[in-house]
Formats: sequence, C-alpha cells, structure tokens
Amino acid sequence: MTSETPVIEIRHLHKAYGSLEVLKGVDISAPKGHVVSLIGSSGSGKSTLLRCCNLLEDSQQGEVLFKGEPVRWKGEGHNRRPADAGQVLRIRTNLSMVFQQFNLWSHMTILQNVMEAPLTVLRRDRAEVEAAARAYLDKVGIGDKCDAYPAQLSGGQQQRAAIARALCMEPEALLFDEPTSALDPELEQEVVKVIKDLASEGRTMMIVTHDMKLAADVSDHVVFLHQGLIEEQGAPDTLFGAPKSERLRGFLSATT
Ligand code: ADP
Ligand code: MG
Repeated sequence: MTSETPVIEIRHLHKAYGSLEVLKGVDISAPKGHVVSLIGSSGSGKSTLLRCCNLLEDSQQGEVLFKGEPVRWKGEGHNRRPADAGQVLRIRTNLSMVFQQFNLWSHMTILQNVMEAPLTVLRRDRAEVEAAARAYLDKVGIGDKCDAYPAQLSGGQQQRAAIARALCMEPEALLFDEPTSALDPELEQEVVKVIKDLASEGRTMMIVTHDMKLAADVSDHVVFLHQGLIEEQGAPDTLFGAPKSERLRGFLSATT
C-alpha cells in the first residue's frame, strides 16, 4: 500500500432497495488519517453509504475498495453479493461502526461489551484484550464503569462505551452514524470531545452527522448528499463558508 492509497474508496456506487434507488453513483474516499463527514437531509442515503463501506449492505453497481483491495462480488443485479466471506469479515472488523442508538448488549457489563468482539471474532488473548479494553474505557473517560450494565449509564456514557468497543477492535478506520443524535444537548458535548480527540490523533474516520459544528471542526473533507448523489463537496471552510449549490444553502440555513 502506498501512502496515497485510501483506507476506504467507493467508486460509482449504486444501491437500490427493490425499486427504490438510494445511491445513484457515489464516489467517495477516506485517505489514511483523514476525517470525512457526510451531511444531508434525512433519507438522502447517508446511512446506506456508510453501511456499504463496511459491507453491511451489498450494492448493484460500482466498487468498494479497502486499502486498495477491491471487494469481489458474485451474482448480478439484486442477487449481487460479496463472493468471499473471509474478505467481508476482514473489512468489517477493520471498519468499526458506532451507531446512533449505541447498540450495546444489555445483558453484558460495559467491560464485557468492549471485550466481546476482540475475543470471539478476532480470537485474541483474554488478558491482553482486558487490558486494552480497560485502557480504552479510561481514554473515553468511563474507566470507573467497567462493571456497570448499559442501562445504568447515561446516553453519553453509553455512546462513549460504544466508541471504546469500536476502538478495541484496533480498526483501520471508524465509521460513525449520527453518534450524537440520540443524546440530550448537554450529553452531546462529552461524545463530541471524544470524537475530536480521535480526530486529533490522526484516526481515519467517516462521520455521518447532523451537527454542522462538529463537521466543521473535525473534518478534512465534507460531502453533502442529496437524493443519492453528491450535490457538493469540499474542505469544511469552503463548503460551510461559501456553499455553491442552492440546495446546500437551503440545507444549511434549515439546520443552523
Ligand atoms: P439517511 O441516513 O440519509 O437518512 P438512509 O440511507 O437511511 O438515509 O435511507 C435512504 C433511503 O433508503 C430512505 O428512503 C430509506 O427509507 C430507504 N431505506 C433505508 N434502508 C432500507 C431498507 N433496509 N429497506 C428499504 N428501504 C430502505
Ligand atoms: Mg441515517
């Protein structure tokens, strides 16, 4: 891999659910160490695009590349799916996802939640995984919550636990889908702070967010999606400071 090879690259991706065309030819890439934010109205295809990146969704046309390596597919049209389960697993474990609703396992403690996938999916050594899990929980500021269950934590703490869980997979990149949307405003900031810390460490990230301030603060590149197509993209200063498209101007004035 050369230094220019992006961690994630999507070329001309088309995705439909039945007759509903959700992505209509999207190109996007996340170079190593960069933060790419996706913004756009509800229903514009942001979550679908993120899920296509880590192969939680298949697609009908176009290419998904992980560190320059194209995903191999079999079948045609709506039967098209990845051909190699090992490749899918490798990509999925290297692109850890953080969801709006945290998706922690309610019957496991916070520490068990963070340790689960490294132990069962990656089959790493238990003592090593536990040490790493405790360190990541410390890093996101909830090292004292190891033995608590998710329901005993605030939303902000649960989301930070979910971020620690994603980090404990030692992924190449992190994918965030509206990580602060389910949180009360006063809890949002504690999660924003963790995301900013990760950005300043040079982590590769793709972030779907409705928080324009977060997108402006952490992104190297911002993509505005409209009805399954990229309407406008660029550096945050340009995109937010001098939006060109009428639609983006309308979107921004409605969200701020
Ligand atoms: P966003 O995240 O930008 O709000 P989504 O990617 O979630 O948008 O959804 C884009 C469109 O795809 C919406 O019209 C949504 O209803 C539809 N959609 C999303 N997931 C599915 C699914 N599993 N089955 C059918 N339609 C879906
Ligand atoms: Mg969404």
